[in-house]
Amino acid sequence: MTRQIRKAAVLGAGVMGAAIAAHLANVGIPVLLLDIVPNELTEEEKKKGLTLESRQVRNRFSLRGLENARKARPAAFYDSDDAALVEPGNLVDDLPRLAECDWIIEAVVENLAVKRDVLAKVEQHARPDAIVSSNTSGISIAAMVEGRSEAFRKRFLGTHFFNPPRYMKLLEIIPGPDTDPDIVAFMQRFGERELGKGVVLAKDTPNFIANRIGTYGLLRTLDAMQRFGLGVDEVDALTGPVMGRPKSATFRTLDLVGLDTFVHVANNVRDSVSESWEKKAFELPDYILKMVENRWLGEKTGQGFFKRERTASGKEILALDLNTFEYRPRKKLQSASLEKAKAQTTLERKLQALVYGDDDASRFIWTVLKETLLYTARKQGEIADDIVAVDNAMKWGFNWELGPYETWDAIGLERSVARMREEGDEIPPFVEELLASGRTSFYERKPGETPRFYVGKGEYREIDEPKEIISLGRLKEAGRVVRRNTGASLIDIGDGVVCLEFHSLKQAIGPDVVEMINIAVDEVEQNWDALVIANQAPNFCVGANLLMMLMEAQAGHWDALDQTVNEFQQTLLRLKYMRKPVVAAPHAMALGGGAEVCFPADRIQAAAETYIGLVEVGVGLIPGGGGNKELLIRAVENVPQNIDERLDQFVRRAFETIATAKVSTSAKEARKLGFLRDSDGISVNRDYQIHDAKTVALSLAKAGYQPQVPRKIPVVGESGAAMLKIGVFGMKKAGYISEHDEKIAHHLIRVLTGGAVPRGTLVTEQYLLDLEREAFLSLVGEPKTQERMQHMLMTGKPLRN
Ligand code: NAD
Repeated sequence: MTRQIRKAAVLGAGVMGAAIAAHLANVGIPVLLLDIVPNELTEEEKKKGLTLESRQVRNRFSLRGLENARKARPAAFYDSDDAALVEPGNLVDDLPRLAECDWIIEAVVENLAVKRDVLAKVEQHARPDAIVSSNTSGISIAAMVEGRSEAFRKRFLGTHFFNPPRYMKLLEIIPGPDTDPDIVAFMQRFGERELGKGVVLAKDTPNFIANRIGTYGLLRTLDAMQRFGLGVDEVDALTGPVMGRPKSATFRTLDLVGLDTFVHVANNVRDSVSESWEKKAFELPDYILKMVENRWLGEKTGQGFFKRERTASGKEILALDLNTFEYRPRKKLQSASLEKAKAQTTLERKLQALVYGDDDASRFIWTVLKETLLYTARKQGEIADDIVAVDNAMKWGFNWELGPYETWDAIGLERSVARMREEGDEIPPFVEELLASGRTSFYERKPGETPRFYVGKGEYREIDEPKEIISLGRLKEAGRVVRRNTGASLIDIGDGVVCLEFHSLKQAIGPDVVEMINIAVDEVEQNWDALVIANQAPNFCVGANLLMMLMEAQAGHWDALDQTVNEFQQTLLRLKYMRKPVVAAPHAMALGGGAEVCFPADRIQAAAETYIGLVEVGVGLIPGGGGNKELLIRAVENVPQNIDERLDQFVRRAFETIATAKVSTSAKEARKLGFLRDSDGISVNRDYQIHDAKTVALSLAKAGYQPQVPRKIPVVGESGAAMLKIGVFGMKKAGYISEHDEKIAHHLIRVLTGGAVPRGTLVTEQYLLDLEREAFLSLVGEPKTQERMQHMLMTGKPLRN
């Protein structure tokens, strides 16, 4: 029988437990969330007349955990309704219910004795086939199951999520000494496919992979900062995006994580390793301990390495001076190496400029990197089986763009090792053997091929990637481009399917992309079985090329604008009615035109993290590529044919969604907002999305595909428009919206209600497109709309005028 996780339990409803439960609910798994039973009543509970026997009191901690998950920002749940899948309970009354669960995750306090105690109880109640795992950040998996039966140890392992579990890609899976390999393999697959995580197999060593290397790197940063006399703000300027690390860099990250957690993690390694050099490497500097004493733990206590302060001119962020222990205004780092690095176009060159410069900033970065890389290589084999696991752990757990070995390749292995030798560093045998074999990098990449990686003793092996992971970049290198222009390409993704990839700047839609959509329709109708629309850029598409439209408008080229909009509309109609199946696969941001290119598809296969919306009102416009029509169709398609007042409710929903520029916070929410249909699919793991979209497209093609048929759309006409306008008038009167907002809303209402026709009229798509184009052109000519467009282009933010 194939294993399945139909129900799970999470033990411990704290920061992690509640958020893990939320993520299980996100993927449709019902969860029991259990925590301890309190032994005292709160004042509030007493006032309510509750006793220690009341269920509400006994479940206090899990109820609170669920409430925290509900309120979490960024949201822990894909859709707030999913919270209903999480059932709060407690670790006394509900223990027998563990027998209902296929997977039990322990996420209680980081304390070996407590964890052992909890696991002993789990063993009494869990079904013999249930998988049991711990979310520990660093306690030994083997130590946790001491005293448990062999049968239990076989199905026990570490599943280490990163915070916040919905968003952080890394899931470290740590087999214990007795874990059944089939269970490890199952959890790896389940973690990737169903939970959408990037799974890395780690060994049962202190703090596993990411936190071991990450903490070591942080400690070396603290060290070197003192030695080079840099401030925390200066270090952040060097250790953020310029070296492929998150914007929060070093110290803002620590402030977010909390200094107590950092101290806990560092101490855990120090106490668990045996060699003195390593113990010493994990010693914390005195100022960190002093900060903890002062409760300057970061965000959660209001101050850490940085502190926000109100000043006469507003809010100011101050930096902690570690010499004086006082907060001071932030300084801008003056460094030629930093400036040079910033001016480079690739991360590889930025890193080289940083590392091989001639100032203290450069020497600082070199020192930190060198020490981290050497440590990583020294620990290779002990903490992970291969370098890919280490690189992935750092990329997915710490949001680094490149892992340590990839970084080492980027700065040049030979050059950097030569400098390390000059500086008297000992080079780990793992690296010596590589260089001795005559090779010069950890990875060997040939265009179009799966990369090979160094496994030690001068040997290389191909990265073992699931076949379902399609890399458009690699297919392009392998010569699978069918057609290409400046904005987009058609790529053969195998089995008779081509993928339309946008690669214009920020994937914006301009004439070249529109041209390629037309080419795609012709190509696929003649030579292929199906079309997928997808790309692997950070965002799917953030809309049409606004700059071009603004320039045309300012030059008064109305005919040209009319033609551009019309062409976009007609192209999307062709896409909708083409004779072969189309599947659109949006991910991350799919805004404005980016949403509109998805609507004509037969199916949408969205990434779970899809932020889709028609946001045109933010720039003083309404959608111009059929977005209004498509949202209207989706809103009314399930309304019974006999047109009555109820139709207005559905039209109102479409109106409100567009008028308030609503953007979904997940694909599931996009369904609720009417952007996606129930028949559209969701890929929890983005790595598999193109494969999933292709599978859907092929299944449509193979199941006797019939093209979509144009249908007339019922509209609510002038009387429906009048009702919507009353609402808008009220908003204007109450001061919620400006005069220009009202004007935009009226244009939108006219399109969505079908203009000057009676309620219940059935109109064609072209009729609605004409109304839409007319409204769009009228608005783009408005000075206030042009101001909004300009403001968005200059600042990236909407202007309210
Ligand atoms: P937390 O303190 O927020 O929550 C711990 C929960 O354990 C609380 O709800 C508490 O009521 C419960 N608890 C306390 N004593 C207990 C007992 N005797 N028996 C059963 N439950 C008890 O902690 P957290 O941050 O959610 O961490 C939970 C686990 O996840 C730890 O093992 C931690 O190392 C690990 N972890 C934490 C993070 C993180 O960033 N916070 C990340 C990854 C892993």
